[in-house]
Order: sequence, then C-alpha cells, then structure tokens
Amino acid sequence: MKQIYRMDQFPTLSNYKPPRIELLSPDSYMTRLCTFTTRGCHFDCEFCSVSPFNGKTTRRRPVPEVIQELQRAKEWLRSDIIERMTHGSLFHALTTSLKIWVGLEEGSIVAFVDDLHNSHRAYCRELWQSLKSLNIEWGCQSTLFLGDDPEMVKLAADSGCVSVFVGMESLSEDSLDETNKGFNQVQKFGNQIKMFHDHGIMVNPGIVFGFDNDDESVFETAVEFLTRNKVELAYFNVLTPLPGTALFERLKREDRIIDQDWSKYDGKHVVYTPKRMSAEQLQEGFFWANHQFYSWPCIWNRMGHTRQRLIPRLEMNWEFRKLIYRTTPKGALSPLAKVLKNLQVKLPTSETQQLIPNALHPQPSPGSKPQELYLKMKARRHDAFAALFIDLEGTLDHLNAKELLKRIQQAGRAAKMDIVVNFENLKHATPKAIYTLLDGEILQAISPHTKLRYRNLTKAFQSIVSEIAFDHLDLFDEDIQHA
Ligand code: SF4
Repeated sequence: MKQIYRMDQFPTLSNYKPPRIELLSPDSYMTRLCTFTTRGCHFDCEFCSVSPFNGKTTRRRPVPEVIQELQRAKEWLRSDIIERMTHGSLFHALTTSLKIWVGLEEGSIVAFVDDLHNSHRAYCRELWQSLKSLNIEWGCQSTLFLGDDPEMVKLAADSGCVSVFVGMESLSEDSLDETNKGFNQVQKFGNQIKMFHDHGIMVNPGIVFGFDNDDESVFETAVEFLTRNKVELAYFNVLTPLPGTALFERLKREDRIIDQDWSKYDGKHVVYTPKRMSAEQLQEGFFWANHQFYSWPCIWNRMGHTRQRLIPRLEMNWEFRKLIYRTTPKGALSPLAKVLKNLQVKLPTSETQQLIPNALHPQPSPGSKPQELYLKMKARRHDAFAALFIDLEGTLDHLNAKELLKRIQQAGRAAKMDIVVNFENLKHATPKAIYTLLDGEILQAISPHTKLRYRNLTKAFQSIVSEIAFDHLDLFDEDIQHA
C-alpha cells in the first residue's frame, strides 16, 4: 500500500457499477431512485468545487448503460412497493395507493444528480429520446439557459422531465460576472423560467448570498423575484469558500477567512468577511430569506399559477418549511436594506433625441447611436462619509431623471443620510434630464431630509450645466472621494 494515491487522469464513466440502492434506508432519502449521467463541468464558477474536483471537461456515461440501470432500478422499486403493500396492513396499502396516485410515493421521480446534466446537446438528445421508453418522470440539475432552447425543453418534457434545479446564484449581473458566471443573464431569467413552466417543468433555483457585489438589498430582491416568477422551491446558500476552489484561494490571499471550522462550510454559515455588508447582516439576511420564501403567503402565491402537480408541489414546500422552521432562526433585514434595494434599478430610456455624450468618456464617432438605452442606478453605503453613493450608468432622460429624484427623496426620508450621485460612468443625458436634476422646486422638497451632492456633473455635462442658474443651490462636490 502507498501512503497517498494520486490520480493522473479522470476515470472513464463506461462500465460504471451502479450502487445497490436497495441498501439505502427508505426513510433517509427523498428518493432512492437516483443516478447520474455526467461528471465534471466545462464552466469555471469561482465558488464551485465541481470542476476542481471532477475536471473542467464533462465525461459522460454511455446512454444504453444509463437506461439499463434505470430499468433495473425501476423494476426493483416496483417489486419493493408491491412487497410492502401485500405484506403490510390494509391501511398501509391504501395510503401507498393514494400516494402513488397523487405522485408522492417514493420513485415517482427519478433524480439525475449530476451537477450539469445538460452539458452536451447531442448527448442529451440521445438520452432523452431513450428515456421515453421507460415511461418515467425525472428531474435534474441544469443550466437556466436551457430555457432558451424551446426544442430541447420540449424534448425533455416529452421524455418525462418534471423538475429542474438551476444554478441561478444571483439577481445581480455584477455578482454573476464576479463569480465567473456571466452566462447567466438576469434579463432572461423570467422568460427562461416561463419556458420550463409552459412545458410543465418545475423550476427550483439555487441562490447564493454574499458575493463581493452583494449588499443588504440582495435578500429581498431575490425573494421578490422568485415569488413573482412562481418558482416551486428555492435553495438559499451563504457563499462558502470550499477548500480547493478559486474562491477559497482568493479569500485566503485577501486574509478574509474568519473561521476554519470545516463543519460550518455547509452553505449555511458565514465563514469569511463579506465586502459590502457585515457578516451578521449576511447571516441574518440568509435566515430572513428562508423564512420569507417558505412563509404561507409566499408559498400560496407561488403555487396558485397552475394546478399541475399541485399536491407534490405543496408537499415539498411543506417539508422545506418544516425543515427551515426547525433549523433556522427567523433573521431580520437591516433598516438600510429596503433603501438600497429601491436605489438599485435599471430603468428604460425612452428619449433618444438630443443626447449629449458625457465629456469624461472618449467621444463616440459622429452619428453613432447609443447602445445603452437604459439608466442603471447602483447604490452603496459609504461608511467613511456616512453617505449613500449612487453611481449612474447608461443614458439619462427626463423621465428617469424624475424617477431618480423621487427615489432619492424616499431614500433621504428613510435613511437620514447624505446622498452623493456620481455621473462619471453615465454615457449620455438629454438636456431636459439635466434641467430636471437642477430643478429648484424638486430639490427644495428633497433638502429637508437629505443633503444631496452631484459628483462629476459639471465636468461631464458642462455645456448644459453652465446654462442653468443654480447659484442658490449647494449641490456640487467634485472632491468627495470614493471608497
Ligand atoms: S456552478 Fe454549475 S456551471 Fe458553475 S462550475 Fe459548478 S457545476 Fe459548473
């Protein structure tokens, strides 16, 4: 025997010996009818252990072997159920029949537990075609962007797919980019979920809280989005730097790991110092999101959209709710969470005439049209100045300038903090928008609640600002430093 055996290549998945599922205790698992088709992942999300552990390519099992294994497992489970029904009490036989009828009996759904079931289109096509002959219902872990492909979603549904776990991770584009998951596109999420729902497939997203771009607003944003889009279940996690991942290496380099008790590396505990909120706020927000999502009003809201598989969907939520209420404190959001959430928006820009480019950016070629027909507001707390910083991106028109000021007024009233609006990264603005921002009447209404400052506005849009008489306003602060 050697002391250490090192693997120099990943093993092939042909001739894989299926586990003896009959040895598993029926009371310890949601389903014993589970298997896998692939290992590894060609993506490279910073927090994920799959590609460091199982390789950055996907290995796949031969389809006939998967089908053969499932056929055997299905037959074994059927004989096991019949055995239990014929040898148990009449009551047991009746309840089992009822559970089979409503889809609650074990084995109603086969679970593919591979981390990225849909990694290869041709393979999935072959596998899903072959699954039709088994006449089973199944669930898997897939990418959300499978929902962009109606043909494949239909094929999955026709072959028995009734549920997908999807690694949504975040509702923030910046957080997704940060974790190397830019292939998840927030603006597509709603339609992708709908595509699955339209084919009778339940959607169960995994959400991670605590990326460096996350602040206290992420919890409410996630729960609201998932409720609005009627997802069946959600798995919330605290970002966890598992040893061996790129995230672990980075946080270690940055000296941000605060706990090395591996028993807490379970996605439920905060073991590092987050960037834009405290560790307590992250922990409390995680608790809060769980309780909120599995509260009765929220469950009801999510269930009501279809009667499809209503009882299994309610039952799963009921089980999750019991688990959450048994194991998770209630949690709470910080008073600033709502304020920040209200200031993190992307508004459409409707006026495209008379756009003035920001003088702080390289000038676009004459006649070129602006690409950013939206205004993105990104707010964050600046502790050193006890102020809220709002960075603007995209294109500002009259309507979204009004909306910006309305939200600033609400934020000032709730947060009682100074507010700094930064125009450095804005690409274009209309003259009418700049006039609105300097409208004395609107600004007077804001001033009792907050001290408002515009940063880089004069440098960026000098030609318009210089036309406006604003002597009575103390608005410009070009020297204030960013955190
Ligand atoms: S999170 Fe999913 S997509 Fe990303 S590396 Fe892990 S398995 Fe692959």
